[in-house]
Amino acid sequence: MTATLTIDLDAIATNWRTLDAQHPRMTAAVVKANAYGLGATQIVPKLAAAGCRHFFTAQLEEAVKIRPLIPGAMLAVLNGLYPHDPIEFTAHNIIPVLGSLPDIAAWRVEAARLGRPLPAILHFDTGMSRLGLSARDAPELDTSGLTLEFIMTHLVSADSPNDPRNAAQATAFRAISRHFPKTRTSLANSSGIFLGKLTHSTLARPGAALYGINPTPHLPNPMRSTVRLTAPILQVQHLNPGDTAGYNGTWTAQRPSRIAVLGIGYADGVHRALSNQATAVFDGTPVPLVGRVSMDLTTFDITDTNAQQGDRIELLGPRHGPDELAREAGTNGYEILTALGNRYQRHYIGA
Ligand SMILES: *Cc1c(COP(=O)(O)O)cnc(C)c1O
Repeated sequence: MTATLTIDLDAIATNWRTLDAQHPRMTAAVVKANAYGLGATQIVPKLAAAGCRHFFTAQLEEAVKIRPLIPGAMLAVLNGLYPHDPIEFTAHNIIPVLGSLPDIAAWRVEAARLGRPLPAILHFDTGMSRLGLSARDAPELDTSGLTLEFIMTHLVSADSPNDPRNAAQATAFRAISRHFPKTRTSLANSSGIFLGKLTHSTLARPGAALYGINPTPHLPNPMRSTVRLTAPILQVQHLNPGDTAGYNGTWTAQRPSRIAVLGIGYADGVHRALSNQATAVFDGTPVPLVGRVSMDLTTFDITDTNAQQGDRIELLGPRHGPDELAREAGTNGYEILTALGNRYQRHYIGA
């Protein structure tokens, strides 16, 4: 493993505090998909130390893995109860986010079997058409035997402040919450925190912004950079004008060129869509990615630098973060982070 992924836990903790300060009530942390690819085992205790008391994963297995790290905190699974046995949740004090009538029924059966109320979060769908109960279910929902910790919904377009769906969903959620007058609410994701009062609730559920992704894409990024990805130059190639680089020769040297070969490729999350599109950095100088990204190797034009074998080129860093790389790849920062592979030497700052 020659490439190095440096993850700044202090910056992630700072980002949580920034979000918590921005949201009037409580702020959770969404740590699904191994904390957006950056390492739940390292990040979760750091967030707990910063004051976070509520954590969400997508899957039960992810929650079971981090449960011992945060014994006193609320830990909930967004994807719900099905198809697990309820005992897999109760055994670890993990709360299912219940988003269907069968999920509620199964959780109530388990509460009756145990003879004690079980904590639950109800998820209502207000426009995503993914997981969640219908608003029509709200008036006559039987949740006896359950202790409702929160009711929640998820915003469709929180990163687009002018999208009328934000207000529509907030209004729909408010109407649903009238059927649960004593239950606390959870609404905003990262971007929702920045939409103002409309989308504030008892508990915000940010994920992306914790890891440095810009929650306000139309404005400068208020979050701190959290990842740096560098790889050493394995070999320098000298090309003559007319020579090509990589599979299918999609890049042709227009001048005598020096090409740096790095030992990372699409198997490491350097998306193939970045072929001839990305810009990395050497010593402050932008170096374009040239030719096709291959599975384990990528080539960069370093003609305008004095970079040599062994020097490190930076693919992700404070000046060129996941959002910028995502733009070049035609995707979003979420996919960039969660696609980062297992072949990096991972360093944690502030562990
Ligand atoms: C992923 C997710 C979040 C976090 O969203 P970000 O945009 O990463 O802040 C919150 N709630 C639900 C239901 C999610 O699936």
